[in-house]
Amino acid sequence: MMPPPPPALADSRQSANAAACAIFLAGFTCDAGFTIYISYMATSSQHDPIVSLPHSDTPHATLERIPVAFAAGDGIGPEIAEAVRRILEAAQVPLELEPVTLGERAYLGGVSTGVPDDAWAAIRRSRALLKGPITTPQGGGYKSVNVTLRKTLGLFANVRPCESFACLPASAQGIDLVVVRENEEDLYAGIEHRQTPETYQCLKLVTRAGCERIVRYAFAFARANGRSKVTCMTKDNIMKLTDGLFHRVFDEVAREYPELGTEHQIIDIGAARLATRPQAYDVIVTLNLYGDILSDIAAEVSGSVGLGGSANIGRRFAMFEAVHGSAPDIAGRDIANPSGLLQSAVALLVHVGLGSHAATLRNAWLRTLEQGIHTADLRPGRPVGTLAFADAVIANLGALPERLKVASFPENSRPIEVEVSQPAPQLRERSGIDVFVHHTGSVDTLAAQLLAAAGPALQLTMITNRGVKVWPAGHADTLCTDHWRCRFVARDKGAVEFAALHALVGRIAEQGGDVIKTEGLFQYDGQPGFSAGQGA
Ligand code: NAD
Repeated sequence: MMPPPPPALADSRQSANAAACAIFLAGFTCDAGFTIYISYMATSSQHDPIVSLPHSDTPHATLERIPVAFAAGDGIGPEIAEAVRRILEAAQVPLELEPVTLGERAYLGGVSTGVPDDAWAAIRRSRALLKGPITTPQGGGYKSVNVTLRKTLGLFANVRPCESFACLPASAQGIDLVVVRENEEDLYAGIEHRQTPETYQCLKLVTRAGCERIVRYAFAFARANGRSKVTCMTKDNIMKLTDGLFHRVFDEVAREYPELGTEHQIIDIGAARLATRPQAYDVIVTLNLYGDILSDIAAEVSGSVGLGGSANIGRRFAMFEAVHGSAPDIAGRDIANPSGLLQSAVALLVHVGLGSHAATLRNAWLRTLEQGIHTADLRPGRPVGTLAFADAVIANLGALPERLKVASFPENSRPIEVEVSQPAPQLRERSGIDVFVHHTGSVDTLAAQLLAAAGPALQLTMITNRGVKVWPAGHADTLCTDHWRCRFVARDKGAVEFAALHALVGRIAEQGGDVIKTEGLFQYDGQPGFSAGQGA
């Protein structure tokens, strides 16, 4: 008999607020000997979260099999995907896996995004994707399939649980943490330019709504899962505006969760401590790039990057994939660990309302680990291959672990809403412009050229090279490249019209200046919306 469908999003909720995100969390179990249903809150400190949300427009009760787009991926992808497919089939899980091609084969077929139209159609139909890892070719202008999927489908939260298992060797035992990684912003905007012969730029884009959405998600997740602490990691001692925003939003939202411990760590010491004292962490929320790195560290410290599964959660879609990549170094050798993808499939099953099937798979997997059956990444000794590991899991279907916690998941999940607030409007005034120029001579030559171009309304206040002030009164030791940022502000310190800035840029070009780009300088309620120069 088919399980009841997961709750559907109310239409009004879907349309009311584009920034509102409905997220559904389900239950989970862990190594420590108990089961947790998110709706009933946690009773202990160790948990293994699974995330779910409304799956399809078609009620599952009316379907014989639940459609799910299924991409094998590249490198080790086909091997681990086949292992997981076999397990799903042997467990008679009522999923209709619809194979889609993503990644290398699509690139080779001339699809520059790596996602062909029929794959988009299948994903949009089923709203859920189980995917193997994808190789992103270096160079050639190819965009990452993963980033394209996450951003196109609005999968803003990347939830990466990590736990250690007493029966497996690991750098540390007692790990039970979840990295909640912002999934759409940061340096993953993929906006890069070679601005001068010497200088390359990658734009880091962070929005208030993006920060609030993921931070609220992390807190709601922690509360619903009975977690006790949320740790925020940023580098806001350096990136005061972007990472500073993330930290500020974290502090604001934290006030609404007085029962949870909160802390902020600079990402460098945070990553170091995660590697050496992972037991100290519970839920970690962080920006996209840091979250990517932290979740690999956590998975590796817990035994192998091959163990980690993840859920990419959005308002309408969800994607489930292993934390690791396509591992080309071991592809085609039948030695890859399929556990990460299998754990992702378990999360998917909970997501589509097949909790008992999820538990069957998870318990068979735990029992297999307990029996000492393992792939080569987990420990030396006598490892089995990818498919042999899958066969061992299949042989254990219906069995329960004897020492590790028996898994049990609910058939339905409870929605958690994440509402993003509308910040109060602020007075925004244009107060100047940073003009970036390509210049191979001295700073004094450049300054003379710019001073001549400044005009009556604007004043040249600073020139920096790679962010360090070199004019006026720079240090002789500062190494200068061919890339200069030249700051002009209104002489009367007031607001300035765009036309005046436009005219300035024209005059700089007339003076022979090689303008790369400009960046407007704005004040928000009188506070500068731009950083000072280093040393200024
Ligand atoms: P990787 O995660 O593929 O491999 C890192 C190391 O871990 C390798 O030594 C590999 O053999 C090992 N490893 C990874 N998964 C394993 C498994 N299941 N079992 C046993 N060992 C495993 O990282 P990489 O080498 O930096 O990246 C390779 C490719 O994967 C790149 O093209 C990258 O862009 C891509 N990638 C894809 C994803 C994704 O699809 N979500 C994520 C990360 C990297």
